[in-house]
Amino acid sequence: MHEWALAEGIISTAIKVAKKENLKKIAKIKVTLGELQQIDTEIFNFALKELTKPQSPLLNKTKIELKPEKAVLGCRVCGHKWAFSEEIEKLSEKDSESIHFIPDIAHTYLRCPKCKSPDFEIIKGRGVWIDSIEGV
Ligand SMILES: [Zn+2]
Repeated sequence: MHEWALAEGIISTAIKVAKKENLKKIAKIKVTLGELQQIDTEIFNFALKELTKPQSPLLNKTKIELKPEKAVLGCRVCGHKWAFSEEIEKLSEKDSESIHFIPDIAHTYLRCPKCKSPDFEIIKGRGVWIDSIEGV
């Protein structure tokens, strides 16, 4: 249901933007998906398609483009930044699965590759948002 709620959020935001910009039709919505966002892209895609079925001329034949965003972590101690996927490859399959399931436990498994501090933050790769809306 998570996917449906997110898809509804995307569509209602797109409609608001379109109305504000006086668009008659939304041709394309580009959506960015964070790597650490727990999303089943198949369900998400399906939900978006269902929600853009011609309920209004605005959403008739709207194309949805999903763009994944790589997760980037940043160390709070030394300021080093690194790609989440590089670190995850070094972990066992079980550990990397748990991180994808609950990103917050990344701190249990990951350390800054430079200073070994567990005190880091997720700079990129969380959340779902609209990248751009194209319309006429
Ligand atoms: Zn560090």
